[in-house]
Amino acid sequence: MIIAVTGGAGFVGSHLVKSLLEEGHEVIAIDNFVTGTIKNFYFLPKDFKERFTLLEQDISEETVNIDFKLDRIYHLASPASPIDYANIPIETLKVGSIGTYNILNLAMKHKARFLMASTSEVYGDPLEHPQKETYWGNVNPIGPRSCYDEAKRFSEAMIMAYHRVHGLDMRIARIFNTYGPNMRLNDGRVVPAFISQALKGEPITVFGDGNQTRSFCYVSDLVRGLKSLMETPNIHEPVNLGNPAETTIKNFAEMLLTLTGSTSKIEYKPLPQDDPLRRRPDITKAVQLLNWHPEIPLSVGLTKTIEWAKQYV
Ligand code: NAD
Ligand code: UDP
Repeated sequence: MIIAVTGGAGFVGSHLVKSLLEEGHEVIAIDNFVTGTIKNFYFLPKDFKERFTLLEQDISEETVNIDFKLDRIYHLASPASPIDYANIPIETLKVGSIGTYNILNLAMKHKARFLMASTSEVYGDPLEHPQKETYWGNVNPIGPRSCYDEAKRFSEAMIMAYHRVHGLDMRIARIFNTYGPNMRLNDGRVVPAFISQALKGEPITVFGDGNQTRSFCYVSDLVRGLKSLMETPNIHEPVNLGNPAETTIKNFAEMLLTLTGSTSKIEYKPLPQDDPLRRRPDITKAVQLLNWHPEIPLSVGLTKTIEWAKQYV
């Protein structure tokens, strides 16, 4: 198949691109490198490069023109780290609105199946726990995270409208915290932040009292879930993809200290505004519809990520 991946030079995108190339597809990555980097393609073997094209383009600013017929479009382009989207809130809102609109039209033109990387952030600071797809969320529409949360919610609404009005064959993956190699070590997200602090012997910056929770999924599990969702027929509703193993951020910091053997101390810093208190996916739907569940335990995925990070610290 011929497959386009917006945001293909980012963390998740680069793993997805590699995996699709390994399956023998032709892949076109579309990216403006605002948070991604061409370096993320370091792991593409030479013979893959004949089936790989990189289009440097801001999908919010201009429509994408591709001459040959696309079969699938994975739409991943968007800043994803709270620090990134706080730095460029307008670009984040634009890519989730105009960017999604442009890529939906590309999908219509090519009659391509379309999958969008949505997020657990559509649930905001959730009042329901764990979060099922039926939960409508608790989002502050004007807070510092709203540029991301509302852009993703708008994307979902736009995709459903294209499905209802134009019959677009679409998928929505609600992705929960994912980690692994190719994250930017300074992107501010907790996994790269704690790993680089631990490896450098710097204080581990736990925000708040560290009792807030997250559930971390290794990137290869997520990529398997995304491909499965794309290729399973007729799932025209959002599906959570994440690892339900929940941990407090304080325990997560301690686990990283053990895994790295670091002597870093834990330093407590103020909790950012609207930081969700608890987050864990209910993945019943993914298990039932896709027979998907995560396979990589946190300690194994973190060990791989730490080994990868050592070359950059
Ligand atoms: P990332 O920042 O590493 O990758 C995003 C990519 O999109 C980057 O390469 C960036 O340059 C590109 N991009 C952004 N705006 C663009 C634009 N206007 N035009 C073209 N390219 C643009 O983030 P990631 O962690 O790989 O996330 C990928 C997707 O998955 C995002 O849509 C994100 O919202 C979603 N997601 C990720 C997680 C996670 O934990 N990693 C969780 C939930 C949702
Ligand atoms: N966090 C932290 N220290 C850091 C970075 C993040 O304690 O240096 C916390 C953050 O407050 C949140 C959790 O870790 O509760 C996950 O943050 P991240 O930015 O990775 O993603 P989020 O799930 O908030 O989008």
